[in-house]
Amino acid sequence: MNSAESDASKACDIVEKAVAILRDYPLCDRCLGRMFALLGRGWSNKERGDAIKRLVVMGLHARIREGDKEAARLFEQLAPNIGPQASKLYEELFGKQLEPRKCYICGSELDKWIQRAGEESLKQLRLIETRSFLVAAKIDEKIRVREDTLKQRYGLSHAESIGSEVKREVSKIIQAKTELKPNFVNPDVVIAVHIPGGDVELQIMPLLLKGRYWKTSRRISQSFWITRRGEKRYPLSVEEALSPLLDLYDADELVLHASGREDADARMLGTGRPFIVELKRPRKRLVGLHEAAASVEKSTNGLVSVELSGEAVRKDVVELKSSDQKKAKVYKALIVVEKEISDEELRGLEEFFRMREIRQRTPRRVRHRRPDIVRERIVYSVDARKLAANVFEAIIVAEGGLYIKELVSGDEGDTSPSFSEYLGAKALCVELDVIGVKI
Ligand SMILES: [Zn+2]
Repeated sequence: MNSAESDASKACDIVEKAVAILRDYPLCDRCLGRMFALLGRGWSNKERGDAIKRLVVMGLHARIREGDKEAARLFEQLAPNIGPQASKLYEELFGKQLEPRKCYICGSELDKWIQRAGEESLKQLRLIETRSFLVAAKIDEKIRVREDTLKQRYGLSHAESIGSEVKREVSKIIQAKTELKPNFVNPDVVIAVHIPGGDVELQIMPLLLKGRYWKTSRRISQSFWITRRGEKRYPLSVEEALSPLLDLYDADELVLHASGREDADARMLGTGRPFIVELKRPRKRLVGLHEAAASVEKSTNGLVSVELSGEAVRKDVVELKSSDQKKAKVYKALIVVEKEISDEELRGLEEFFRMREIRQRTPRRVRHRRPDIVRERIVYSVDARKLAANVFEAIIVAEGGLYIKELVSGDEGDTSPSFSEYLGAKALCVELDVIGVKI
């Protein structure tokens, strides 16, 4: 065979395979075209299927015109499985109307389902603010089995799956009518298309915003805190302070992810604490970050303020939470001691706690809700300033995860060494502020 002949025989392979399939199974244009989807570029499977069917009809017609009886019999057998492309010739040859059979895979409905899914998606997308989408296909088991049966029986190595076709075709309809971009990694919405039927379900993906928060007052917890008696433990929480965002973004729920937490009675000053706020099912996404931050500050009269710097992805939440342990924190503590203290003692304390490793068992006051473990953390530095005979202020820089109140008190020996231990008298941290979180 010369190369021209072998090229021609490859084209014939496609027609031969199509004849073999259509002899046994009726297929709509889309489902037949999909069996050869990887061949040729820039066409839909519908166009592929239509072209193959026309070629089959033309090939048989050529033989019939030469008086080939067997070709006429084969055409009569194939025509109902081919459908409209065969109807005119069928009528001419056999003097009766062709009654096409329904597609074996989709019942000749796939085209309708795709159109329906496209229109339904557009209708639902118009109700929300979104920038990107992803189409997912939920294909009924029976349909998938029928498709796989054909692929195996006829060795169809250039086929694609009905799921891929549905996803692509519905995406095309959406892109033709909107400015939305497909996004396979981090879409604003996921559109699930159900086959059979073409029903769609819109899943609005959460919006994650990253920023920092400050607490200028004490008695503000980080998360909304209800006691066992059903009362609010603190009048305000950072989580509640963020609630104006629910209205602004028309979202159903809000979750605060923070890099660690300070005690409710500690202020959060200085650099602020990094956080990510997760808004679930936001119907709006194009809100200005300044406007969003201002709404938080206004609703709390400035007790809580935030700065929002941009959008985050899920991976950032994991990083934010794990990075807390590694970050150094800067605290300002007001400390009362049960004896008078001298400046020399304070200088000694500063010296002693420079790069000092502390062994700390989970404090008694939180042991009921946190795992009871012994941790080792470093105090990097202490800067002490005497305010009264038995009162001093200390700026403490320590590794994340160290409980500062217990560093001061010693927690009855469960934190060691401690300020109490070093000074040889009970020391108590009466006020605590976080003034910096180092990244
Ligand atoms: Zn079909």
